[in-house]
Amino acid sequence: MLGRMQDWPLTVDRILDHAKAWHGDREIVTRSVEGPIVRTTYAEVHKRAKRISNALRAMGIQPGDRVATLAWNSARHLEAWYGIMGIGAVCHTLNPRLFSEQLIYIINHAEDQVIFTDLTFAPLLAQIREHIPTVKHFVVLTDEAHLTDQLPGAVAYESLVAGHSDDCVWGGFDENTPAGLCYTSGTTGNPKGVLYTHRSNFLHTLVTASADVLGIGGRDIILPIVPMFHANAWGIAFSAPAVGAKLVMPGPKLDGASVHELIEAEGVTFSAAVPTVWQMLLAHLRQTGGKLTTLKRVAIGGSAVPEAIVRGFRDEYGVDVTHAWGMTETSPLGTIASPSYKVAEMDEETQLSFKLKQGRPPLGIDLRLVDDQEKLLPHDGETFGRLKVKGPFVVGQYFKGDGGEILDSEGFFDTGDVATIDEYGYMQITDRAKDVIKSGGEWISSIEIENIAAGHPKAELAAVIGVAHPKWDERPLLLVKLRPGESGTKEEFLKFLDGKIAKWWTPDDVVFVDDIPLGATGKIDKKILRQRMSDYVLPTAG
Ligand code: AMP
Repeated sequence: MLGRMQDWPLTVDRILDHAKAWHGDREIVTRSVEGPIVRTTYAEVHKRAKRISNALRAMGIQPGDRVATLAWNSARHLEAWYGIMGIGAVCHTLNPRLFSEQLIYIINHAEDQVIFTDLTFAPLLAQIREHIPTVKHFVVLTDEAHLTDQLPGAVAYESLVAGHSDDCVWGGFDENTPAGLCYTSGTTGNPKGVLYTHRSNFLHTLVTASADVLGIGGRDIILPIVPMFHANAWGIAFSAPAVGAKLVMPGPKLDGASVHELIEAEGVTFSAAVPTVWQMLLAHLRQTGGKLTTLKRVAIGGSAVPEAIVRGFRDEYGVDVTHAWGMTETSPLGTIASPSYKVAEMDEETQLSFKLKQGRPPLGIDLRLVDDQEKLLPHDGETFGRLKVKGPFVVGQYFKGDGGEILDSEGFFDTGDVATIDEYGYMQITDRAKDVIKSGGEWISSIEIENIAAGHPKAELAAVIGVAHPKWDERPLLLVKLRPGESGTKEEFLKFLDGKIAKWWTPDDVVFVDDIPLGATGKIDKKILRQRMSDYVLPTAG
């Protein structure tokens, strides 16, 4: 027997329909690529997105076809997303920080037919266009007046909007129709595509907007600095219109001064970004004596949030930090460190130690911790193991079946992260499985050591990798990039770690380097570091 409620497919076009109908006058403000601040509303965005849908149909785009975007966060980018998804086509977000070869691989693999791009990336596309034959149309997110000849044959987005009607029916397809496609950074092997469905995005929206997750509402003014091209801007392009929040889109300028200016000018109450962006903002505020008069909360994820950021925001600016963990494969939100009722009763300093963890799963995410034999591990906050996830917005299979079967016999996906879970249910990432250092049969967390080392006043960046050792299999090596003009010694860094980590975790050596490479998503690229250090022999290895 089936229930007798209405069949209302959970498709994302309904989110913008709702925003238009009930929050139609709510603003979307963009710092445009052309320069000026531009303003629009959900009602306008809805209308223009429908025009884009008609333009895509005129180009021959059918349901299931892939249409890519290579763009900063902006109202136009938002329109393109909904215009693509509303007609059942798949919006493929391209990350401009990828190498050209990776972009070429991804575009060919996805068989993208159209690419919407910002002016910023027109030269990049011009360079690779002969290698991406499936792409029939390039649309530059600008008007005729600003269109350059950097990408010959491209059309101006505003001409498409002007040239098509907004009379277009969205939806009407199954909620399991694909809506979006995003490739993982691919630190091992080729990048793999995560093909989101309308349903997975819709459910992710409902979950992430809720009080203990992003906790956003219609009175919020949200600045998503997390890019729409990486992990879906943490779903904010869906959750902000869903609740009718004002959106402030930062465009290409993500430096401290530009971000501060937008926050103050637009009255931003909530924002989300990776730690490096917040480091730049805090540095700017300290230099200029700037204040944050409206900002109440920031969400931080993508990599572990350093304690100094949480303290800086809290003590100097009265802003609350919420740490979150997730990945492209989890849409992206997996856990969030909002206080449980027990943690909320603890004193502020104790609470801070929980704020630094990656947090607890919301409804819709099942978590488990297992060892290499798949045995479940205890939630004691100390035992670390492989982190696995399951849920309706977690990947089931990569696009085109790449990588084969990726779920275990109970339907869990191995995140590739190594973590602990404590008695309060807080998960803490201790490493990536491929970076964890296996020393004498025990595991050492490279991240924990490098996070502490990075807190040394002379350090700009620190990284720890495992290096082969004849007796212990692997031992940790600390690599430090010093701040400009500083000099340092191995002894002072080891002394700094002393007492903060277990004795046997102490790195066998410290090497000072000019550069610590970061990947396309801003994380330390340990694959490159390991390659660079491949001839290195530990002093303890003799
Ligand atoms: P991506 O799919 O590119 O977003 O990368 C996801 C990976 O980033 C995760 O599997 C983690 O290794 C890492 N990551 C994301 N958020 C955090 C966090 N809050 N702390 C530590 N690592 C994180």
